[in-house]
Amino acid sequence: MTAKQQILIVGGGIMGVTAALELRRRSHEVTLIDPGPLPHPEASSTDISKMIRMDYGSDELYMDWMEEAFPRWHEWNELWGEELYHEDGFVIMTREEMRSGEFEYDSFRKLQQRGHQPERLDSQALAARFPAWNAALYVDGYYNARAGWAESGRVLTRLIDAARAAGVRLREGVAMRELLLDDARVRGVVLSDGAALRADAVIVAAGAWTPVLLPHLAEVMWVVGQPVMHFRPAEPALFALPNFTGFAADISNTGWYGFPLHQGVVKIANHGEGQRLDPRGTKEVQAGEEARFREFLRETFPALADAPCVQQRLCLYCDTWDGHFWVDWDREIPGLLVATGGSGHAFKFAPVLGELIADVLEGRENRFAARFAWRERGELGKEDARFWEG
Ligand SMILES: Cc1cc2nc3c(=O)[nH]c(=O)nc-3n(C[C@H](O)[C@H](O)[C@H](O)COP(=O)(O)OP(=O)(O)OC[C@H]3O[C@@H](n4cnc5c(N)ncnc54)[C@H](O)[C@@H]3O)c2cc1C
Repeated sequence: MTAKQQILIVGGGIMGVTAALELRRRSHEVTLIDPGPLPHPEASSTDISKMIRMDYGSDELYMDWMEEAFPRWHEWNELWGEELYHEDGFVIMTREEMRSGEFEYDSFRKLQQRGHQPERLDSQALAARFPAWNAALYVDGYYNARAGWAESGRVLTRLIDAARAAGVRLREGVAMRELLLDDARVRGVVLSDGAALRADAVIVAAGAWTPVLLPHLAEVMWVVGQPVMHFRPAEPALFALPNFTGFAADISNTGWYGFPLHQGVVKIANHGEGQRLDPRGTKEVQAGEEARFREFLRETFPALADAPCVQQRLCLYCDTWDGHFWVDWDREIPGLLVATGGSGHAFKFAPVLGELIADVLEGRENRFAARFAWRERGELGKEDARFWEG
């Protein structure tokens, strides 16, 4: 489909906004709706920071794609005249020696094989370079300079401004209630006030709200709340560059990761089982979580263990059954394209996501598209669902 179309995008998170920008660049007429204001404070994309990294175990597709995304992150920094992507490096440590077949070692080896220069760290090197760590507990790992973090909410704001300037019609305070169907084909959406909005094609990019809007997807994707907390350190310099970077602390066994000092706080998060929930309900961090966070801090970053916790949030993953994103035409409903399933790791691909979604919509070749295509729920492979954030 390359003729110019009227495209309606449902959802103004990173998937929807990057798709809107790219489709508008390709001269389509684009309208984006979101219950907003944009960026929506509850969107997963709206946050102070997201990790931008290429460490993906032995899964080279994501590494390959990040190799395309990194230069584009730098281009955005230049375009915007301010650094919203900070290439500060990333430390991944383990409590036992890294082993082949595990996320950390496989990432390290693949980075080397692809010509990157991750630096192996033992306890001694960790203590010397990154003194906030309890180095006695972390014996192996590496530092990857080709990584960093982005001020995700501010990135989204920049992209929303760019979309508006490019002629995307942004309709805030407007939510999709259901698809507008005619002869079993999508003709647009019915809004929450009952009005109809027509289009040639509809892209549902509603993140965690997608399986609610499209219940036939509930078998292959669902919503999981993951706790995030901000701690204000008494010794900020210990948690700022060059003493500290984004990190993953034995993440394949523990789920812990975090960010260097930003806005006076250290953001710590856990990529664990999380809580399955309905995104329309209350989203509260469970009692007992703060104690669990402090237990981790006490053993890993003792100087942060008693720091005031100044913010807590339950952030929503739209998890697919295999952990890979979901970007394809709906198999059952013509005219509907789904772009979601971030599964806790999509933000880093922001500079290349819009192209993928637009290519799928236009039926153009895209070498990354097959991974994210429509698929039945099946057995998990070795690398599936293993994209720990950090
Ligand atoms: C705790 C946490 C940590 C993460 N850390 C990282 C990280 O470090 N690195 C990384 O790369 N990724 C990370 N991610 C994943 C990343 O944030 C997501 O994959 C990505 O932001 C998802 O973007 P999205 O556009 O699909 O969804 P969202 O950003 O959630 O946007 C969905 C939009 O749809 C809108 N919407 C909802 N209902 C409707 C409706 N009825 N009609 C119209 N619009 C609607 C919402 O208002 C929202 O604006 C993390 C996620 C979480 C939760």
